[in-house]
Amino acid sequence: MRAALEVARAGVDVALLSKVYPLRSHSVAAQGGINAALGDDDSWEKHAYDTVKGSDYLGDQDAIEAMCHEAPDDIIELEHMGTVFDRLADGRIAQRPFGGAGFPRTCYVADITGQALLHVLHEQTLRLNVRTYDEWFVTSLVVDGGRCRGAVAINMRTGEMEALLAKAVVLAAGGFGRIYTPTSNSLISTGDGHALAYRAGVPLMDMEFVQFHPTTLKESGVLITEGARGEGGYLLNSEGERFMARYAPNKMELAARDVVSRAEQTEIDEGRGVDGCVLLDLRHLGEKKINERLFQIRELALDLTNTDFVAAPVPVRPGMHYAMGGVKTDANGATPTEGLFGCGECACVSVHGANRLGGNSLLETITFGRRAGKAAAAYAATQPAPSLPVAAAQPDAEAIDELLARPSNGERMADLRAEMGTAMNKGVGIFRTREGIADTLAMIRELKQRRQQVPVRNKGKVFNYELLSLIELGFMIDLAEVITLGALEREESRGAHSRRDFPERDDATWMKHTLAYQTPEGPRLEYAPVTKTRWEPENRIY
Ligand SMILES: Cc1cc2nc3c(=O)[nH]c(=O)nc-3n(C[C@H](O)[C@H](O)[C@H](O)COP(=O)(O)OP(=O)(O)OC[C@H]3O[C@@H](n4cnc5c(N)ncnc54)[C@H](O)[C@@H]3O)c2cc1C
Repeated sequence: MRAALEVARAGVDVALLSKVYPLRSHSVAAQGGINAALGDDDSWEKHAYDTVKGSDYLGDQDAIEAMCHEAPDDIIELEHMGTVFDRLADGRIAQRPFGGAGFPRTCYVADITGQALLHVLHEQTLRLNVRTYDEWFVTSLVVDGGRCRGAVAINMRTGEMEALLAKAVVLAAGGFGRIYTPTSNSLISTGDGHALAYRAGVPLMDMEFVQFHPTTLKESGVLITEGARGEGGYLLNSEGERFMARYAPNKMELAARDVVSRAEQTEIDEGRGVDGCVLLDLRHLGEKKINERLFQIRELALDLTNTDFVAAPVPVRPGMHYAMGGVKTDANGATPTEGLFGCGECACVSVHGANRLGGNSLLETITFGRRAGKAAAAYAATQPAPSLPVAAAQPDAEAIDELLARPSNGERMADLRAEMGTAMNKGVGIFRTREGIADTLAMIRELKQRRQQVPVRNKGKVFNYELLSLIELGFMIDLAEVITLGALEREESRGAHSRRDFPERDDATWMKHTLAYQTPEGPRLEYAPVTKTRWEPENRIY
């Protein structure tokens, strides 16, 4: 929506396609906040340094500098558009401390920041009459003569397929959390944007770096914001010890996420967990503060675990949360394919490198949404109107007819999804080994074959979610293969990629981005250099 806004402001005709009503996008679930160096003692350079260090030196420093430099203006603009950020008594925007950050620089609206931002941006798109295609599901990109010229989509209400032609396309399709079970991500976070680009020949970058958030609820994977620790929450093991003192004595609970998640998993593995979890204790914050700043997570914990943060610690564990990798773009959102741009979680600019800092993702959607929108509008202005045969939708229509024509008996799709999710958690989770990753890769390749026979029992056209889920499963299996292969090849530990058989970071060999290209035999990997501007790699201690 931020990209669409920028295109509309440039006076260029723009349409927004979404497989759900836009306000149901996963961004609505973002809780803790959005980063910008606004404080008197803070600076964008300090924000950039924290981000580079957080990325375990895999982030591209030119892109990180751009984001951190432009963040304060983006926040002020969001506030002028009507975002009701929490404030200090003197009227300035309040900021809470977040993991891996040297200063409190996370702006927030209680613990519903994403919802607040999404509503404000939605209002702005309505104000500028951005045309929206709600509940249209994109099945492929139209690429003609090496240029992206639109997208093929199903109108979910009628089941009809259409090719929507355009001078430029911006992918902003979010993350792929649902490849893992459990995950903090919405049901719709199935990596469609990643897969659409990959299938159109665009490389995916650094896909092996998958973030596990330290505080998710056990069964559901539902997120408890880092804001809970930002406001002063403790992590305790079964002995009542604040164990982070042994892993990150300076930052304690507010070390970077990869560090805290590994610490928790180690406590659990060594027998100091509580029923497969550790405990998040907020009691000392008091009911007033919890109600003011963390009311949503109080409600979530009550509903889902029957525990009230005010009265007792809540069991939490590390859970799949975020995709650092994505469609390779430059700092203006341009992918290597002309006419195709990307931004938000589905893109890899790369500002997060091997590990994202909390609060930097919402920021990325805004700053690079704006930049991608601007670049796409400028590109479109130089292009003739695309003229393609209506038949551009034909191959996808035929593929869907084939899915619907399959006999109704056979394996259940839900079983394949569950097997994939569990295997990914096991083989390419917090700690990884060659053997475990290889097993998961073999399993994913087998699932790819089995999916070819999975039936769609619902033969209807209108809102056929079973059909759409099977398409999504195809997207996810493609990506699972890329994630696993990237993890198998990368023989080092960096950020969220932690190999028990290669426990050290290896800058001499592995300070490079992984690029994955689709081939009929599966992903082909290449490597590309990391852009450094001013920060040399250091030991990462918190
Ligand atoms: C629970 C949770 C809490 C978080 N909290 C924070 C936080 O406090 N701070 C922070 O910085 N980050 C946070 N994050 C991360 C951050 O919220 C996300 O990375 C970010 O919101 C993603 O935004 P996006 O615009 O890229 O994608 P999304 O908001 O996921 O939107 C994707 C859009 O693409 C559309 N789409 C996808 N596939 C298709 C298709 N095939 N056809 C048509 N449309 C399609 C969807 O309909 C949707 O509209 C959180 C994430 C989660 C899951």
